[in-house]
Amino acid sequence: EVYADYSATTPVAPAVSEAMMKVYRTQYGNPSSIHRTGRAARHIVDSARRDIARLLNAEPKEILFTSGATEANNTAIKGAAYKREHLGRHLITTQIEHHSVLYVFQYLEKKGFEVTYLPVNRYGEISLNDLKLALRPDTILVSVMFGNNEVGAIQRVDEMAELLKNHQAFFHTDAVQTAGHMPIDVKELGIDMLSLTAHKFYGPKGIGLLYIRQGTELEFQQLGGAQETKRRAGTENVPLIQGMATALKLATEHMDERNVRLMQLKEYFLNALQDRNIPFEMNGNRNMQLPHITNLYFPFSDVEIMLTLLDMAGVFVSSGSACTAGSIEPSHVLTAMFGEDPRTKQSVRFSFSYKMTEEEIDYIADQLLKIYEMNKERSE
Ligand code: PLP
Repeated sequence: EVYADYSATTPVAPAVSEAMMKVYRTQYGNPSSIHRTGRAARHIVDSARRDIARLLNAEPKEILFTSGATEANNTAIKGAAYKREHLGRHLITTQIEHHSVLYVFQYLEKKGFEVTYLPVNRYGEISLNDLKLALRPDTILVSVMFGNNEVGAIQRVDEMAELLKNHQAFFHTDAVQTAGHMPIDVKELGIDMLSLTAHKFYGPKGIGLLYIRQGTELEFQQLGGAQETKRRAGTENVPLIQGMATALKLATEHMDERNVRLMQLKEYFLNALQDRNIPFEMNGNRNMQLPHITNLYFPFSDVEIMLTLLDMAGVFVSSGSACTAGSIEPSHVLTAMFGEDPRTKQSVRFSFSYKMTEEEIDYIADQLLKIYEMNKERSE
């Protein structure tokens, strides 16, 4: 079996689960309790926050722990919209965001906000000029993802931040897929808010964070206790917080060597397909692409058939498409890139890990060849 769906989720690294298990076994305290058991748990939360802040070049108080990127994105977008309504009701995002961003903007449209959805070119890239043209005096928030989860397109977030520097709009970025693949220095990027989720970098599921630059005022939803400096009430999940800090440290330390390996694997995969004479085209621009994601158009089979056959052969991959009532909806990302095109229904996303081997890649290529030959026979 070959799992090649690492942008959906990654397994927890052994060092991460060890660090978490140690907390589960020995630190059951509530960080809000003032006795020693509570203080020990508080110490873990505080030092994890400090470690994470250092890795992102942020201040500890600028890190808000959440249940993942979905919550971080919701907090950032709704929080900014509701806090800043009096300054304007215009919002900007892109057509290729993850649903945890896109659907929040669609919801806000129903609440009376006006949203501009920036288009992309056929490589999934947003033009700075389009952003410049979309900006209005009443724009209060811009949200553009750093790296796309379906095609791996990297946006020039730092240049967008520069463009927004003298504008009132807050700038948020969903950096989920870039964690562990691109340096994330919040000061250098110049952004106001940034979302991460631990399970995309070999950490546990159910924990993430929102970086909120000091002075970025938001309306927070979760009321109750004074946790997270009153921005998100609820007892902290101490083991998961420890797990995320450990995972981010590992991902940052090993980023360069893992990226080198991932680029080798991508190269190897594309060559393996060429060697087998399987027709394909890449969706995206390899020079502005996350190293772990390869999205390919196979002009001979619909993606749902492809995914089923691959699954039966023990190859686990994805499409960006959502399955609704048995019929497959083309991916909104590929539709933004190519319009209405058969390509949007004949593309597969492969996402690799630095731990994969050439043998595994060959196995995937062999299975793709079988599917290709089967289709060829049928159409002859
Ligand atoms: N944003 C992007 C780009 C993603 O790939 C994901 C992962 O599914 C999310 C947000 C949501 O993360 P989570 O499901 O951990 O909240």
